[in-house]
Amino acid sequence: MSDGPLSVEALRGVGPALAAKLARLDITRVSDLLFHLPLRYQDRTRITPIAALQLGLEAVVEGEVRAADIVLGRRRSLVVRLQDHTGTVTLRFFYFNAAQKQALAAGTRVRCFGEARRGASGLELYHPEYRVVAAGAEPVASEARLTPIYPATEGISQMALRKLCAQAVAWLADHAPPELVPAALLPAPAVALADALRYLHQPPPDAPLAVLREGRHPCQLRLAFEELLAHNLSLHRLRSQIQASGAPPIPEDSAARQALAAQLPFALTAAQRRVGAEIAADLARPRPMLRLVQGDVGSGKTVVAALAALQVLRAGYQVAVMAPTEILAEQHLASFSLWLEPLGVRVGWLTGRQKGSARNALLAALASGELQLVVGTHALFQEAVEFAALGLAIIDEQHRFGVHQRLALREKGKGLTPHQLIMTATPIPRTLAMSAYADLDTSVIDELPPGRQPVATAAVDNQRRPQVVERIRAACLEGRQAYWVCTLIEESESLQAQAAEATCEALAESLPGLTVGLVHGRLSARDKAAVMARFKAGEIQLLVATTVIEVGVDVPNASLMVIENPERLGLAQLHQLRGRVGRGSAASHCLLLYQTPLSRLARQRLQVLRDSNDGFFIAEQDLLLRGPGEVLGTRQTGLMSLRVADLERHADLLPAVQDAAGALMTGDPRRVDALIRRWLPQGERYAGV
Ligand code: ADP
Ligand code: MG
Repeated sequence: MSDGPLSVEALRGVGPALAAKLARLDITRVSDLLFHLPLRYQDRTRITPIAALQLGLEAVVEGEVRAADIVLGRRRSLVVRLQDHTGTVTLRFFYFNAAQKQALAAGTRVRCFGEARRGASGLELYHPEYRVVAAGAEPVASEARLTPIYPATEGISQMALRKLCAQAVAWLADHAPPELVPAALLPAPAVALADALRYLHQPPPDAPLAVLREGRHPCQLRLAFEELLAHNLSLHRLRSQIQASGAPPIPEDSAARQALAAQLPFALTAAQRRVGAEIAADLARPRPMLRLVQGDVGSGKTVVAALAALQVLRAGYQVAVMAPTEILAEQHLASFSLWLEPLGVRVGWLTGRQKGSARNALLAALASGELQLVVGTHALFQEAVEFAALGLAIIDEQHRFGVHQRLALREKGKGLTPHQLIMTATPIPRTLAMSAYADLDTSVIDELPPGRQPVATAAVDNQRRPQVVERIRAACLEGRQAYWVCTLIEESESLQAQAAEATCEALAESLPGLTVGLVHGRLSARDKAAVMARFKAGEIQLLVATTVIEVGVDVPNASLMVIENPERLGLAQLHQLRGRVGRGSAASHCLLLYQTPLSRLARQRLQVLRDSNDGFFIAEQDLLLRGPGEVLGTRQTGLMSLRVADLERHADLLPAVQDAAGALMTGDPRRVDALIRRWLPQGERYAGV
């Protein structure tokens, strides 16, 4: 075999069909298989005494069937009581046939494998794998090693993956992959790469399963470090690729800044001025700005964005403002028009719903440069949208936009890459920001405008709904306004809309004399805008809404928010929603109307919201309780799909990862390429390498 990249087709049993399926897992080379690491392990090497079963753990147990009965509960099931010399456990089958029931008759000796869960009768194994063993057979389990469970895809069984990886591990003996990270940069103890790979594919029977489960085995740490390093390097490379192309240098413009400030009904906070200055300096460089502005809900990011926009517009370039929802896009349209039109800027807007001549006219105005600023949704990314001279893209609420879109912007600038300003209210804990956004510079608006009062938050049992309705009546009679937010697990927007409609009707009935409005994702943009405008004008007193109002909506007179079933939402999302109130000078309240019983985790999470109004603290708690994928919404972007590393468990490695990235980028660019290729074969596609 050669030393070059060896195709998986060289392995026994791999033809073009299987190779194509493996390619879906980004496995094309034998070496890719080596880095296709098990998600977890099963211990089938020993038989666990029934009394020693632990909740949530998988185990092999063996015993004699005492009874097998069909039970008619909420679901018909076959319930088998299995006993060994230490105790009994229930095996439960929801799908079974007569032959199965017969084979599991009382007195039969059965060996089975499954995960212990909490069931009606204590610990139970649901649908365990099982086989009948001869009475009096030696009670030994058959596997000599821990069984790896690999990430799989349709059409490839675990068994097939195990065999392929075993071949790859055998191949490894003569083809150890090169050590790309100098030992001095690795965390101690520095395990050899080949040893770590072999161990994790084929851990010995006495391997510390609990440590492996936690991801803290030295072999895992060795690989996690390298993987995080590769990700960090790929983000840095992405950044340098974007910055390799030039951007229009936009001179700072203090006259414009003062003109805008003079129009505002408030003075900018020190934090807004500081971040504004950072952006202004970035824009003046002939290299695309890549800046993330983090600021808690209500910290006043929009006006900072408007300052940046004005600098660019006055230099003769166009600006695109992208928002994740139509409601938010409309709101930005209103703010930017209010602030910039008096200064002679023409503002337009574009969403996916616009069709026909209005759309064509707008596209033509953008292409000719006649229209200077456009606000819109992701429709702005579409290929048909051409700009005469796009100088700045402002992306609000970054967590909904992926790396792909960030890259797609390169194509919009015609030779020059537009500056990029990304704003998020999802505060990103520092360790995460270092790894997930290594390609962006960050600024933080760490101050709220003066006079803001924290939103007093309480959790209320749904049984006290009538009292909650009374609170709404009282608030509205005092001239205030309120939100009622409906949440549903269903993904479907039409089901969410139906539920919101029903809630709206019920509330309108119990609150005669109040005007109740409704807004959800199924309304047309125009209807949504109309409802929001009436709410903003105070004509609607209670607004029933789905989570479409999560971001950005700004109605300072609204001082009460009820969130139904808050346990269904993430903390960051709840904090966002709650940020819709507390924007004016009145004391504001948020009532979390939960269904009992609440799980312990749900209780803890709601407690975090009651205790804190600090978005950073809440995001950190969310991270602890739920994990980074949920917090960042990176699941969709794909870039952060990690194999061994886990941003939460391995956060302690990140500072050393950063140092190592710096050392490699300056000292050894060839290794940088090799590391990225090793860990992110798909990342190369994003980066267009
Ligand atoms: P977010 O950071 O959540 O996007 P917005 O930009 O929507 O916040 O601002 C929230 C509200 O605060 C708006 O009504 C805005 O006009 C107002 N605002 C922004 N900056 C200030 C300030 N320095 N002083 C007072 N109010 C401000
Ligand atoms: Mg905003």
